[in-house]
Amino acid sequence: MPAQKRDYYEILGLPKNSTPEQIKQAYKELAKKFHPDINKEAGAEEKFKEVLEAYSVLSDPKKRADFDNHGFNSPEFSNFDVEEFMKRGGMHFDFSDLFGDAGFDPFEQFFRVEKKQSAQRGFDLRFDLELELEDAVLGTEKTIEFVKTDTCDECNGTGSKDKEVLKCPQCNGKGIVERTQKTPFGVFATRMTCNKCTGAGGVVKNPCKKCNGSGQIRVRKKISVKIPMGIENQSHLRLKGEGNAGSRGGQKGDLYVVVLIKPHKIFKRDGADLFVEVPISFAEAALGGEVEVPTINAGTAKLKVPAGTQSGTLFKLRGLGVKESSGTGDLFVKAIVKTPSILTPTQREAFEKLSSLDGFKERQSFFDSLKKKFKK
Ligand SMILES: [Zn+2]
Ligand SMILES: [Zn+2]
Repeated sequence: MPAQKRDYYEILGLPKNSTPEQIKQAYKELAKKFHPDINKEAGAEEKFKEVLEAYSVLSDPKKRADFDNHGFNSPEFSNFDVEEFMKRGGMHFDFSDLFGDAGFDPFEQFFRVEKKQSAQRGFDLRFDLELELEDAVLGTEKTIEFVKTDTCDECNGTGSKDKEVLKCPQCNGKGIVERTQKTPFGVFATRMTCNKCTGAGGVVKNPCKKCNGSGQIRVRKKISVKIPMGIENQSHLRLKGEGNAGSRGGQKGDLYVVVLIKPHKIFKRDGADLFVEVPISFAEAALGGEVEVPTINAGTAKLKVPAGTQSGTLFKLRGLGVKESSGTGDLFVKAIVKTPSILTPTQREAFEKLSSLDGFKERQSFFDSLKKKFKK
């Protein structure tokens, strides 16, 4: 038994009764701390292996129990060789778990694998389009103007003045170069982005003046957008290929037009239904009658108000709401009885006469019911 071998719990800095979560947490922190790619101090690699070994034992309930009972007297641990262990297939070390929260790709970092920077899709763009409710209900066509990245028309996106792109001599047009590297687990062939062509695989002799060799230019674009009838607030209209141009021959991104419907002066919308408040006079409310109400798509409509209509009564005009793919909504009209604030002498006389004839018994019966309550 090698004398310098440290207790596995001591390596992870934990007491013997630690939970599996605590063991995992300590392993994650220490493995990151001593990772030979991060820690260049002398001895870091040895410590990293120590941590791997301790974790490989303590994270396995069977091995942990064995270690707890027999310590290094168990033949299993006395001559543990982490490199041998890894070569035999080791255990599954979840490096994404280890590095996921550090914000970088474990495999790229650990094994230094780099992908060829091949065709890249252009970014999607978003355009917020404010619409009047009428336009949203009836459908319309709007011209929008925005700035986007487009393929340079001067060089066809090649970035070359004479449209000539030579195969990169350093990577032979592959965009990546291969290199071998020694890691704690053995020798790995690693692939890196070619620094001469920055992964593109081609080099330009005479850069295009218009785009400075990038193959892309910023342009102001105007396009017409069809707004379908009955569109809802916050709807996204996807215009395929109208986003930014891709690089190195990549696909174009999309443009998302987000419809924002402005509040309307008189109409409110709830899905396919519309709501409007219409003032009616005392006389109309008392005697009943026909009232003109506004609609959003068909001028005005006639609403029959029955005699004795109270303020706040809701009437439904079927089919005068918003036409949507799922069906047509209704128009709800709320009658608001308006008390006149200015009276002509004739009107005043009429109201006084009405008052003297008053059949208004509601308030009296209201007081009567109160009195009954207080009676014994
Ligand atoms: Zn160009
Ligand atoms: Zn290259």
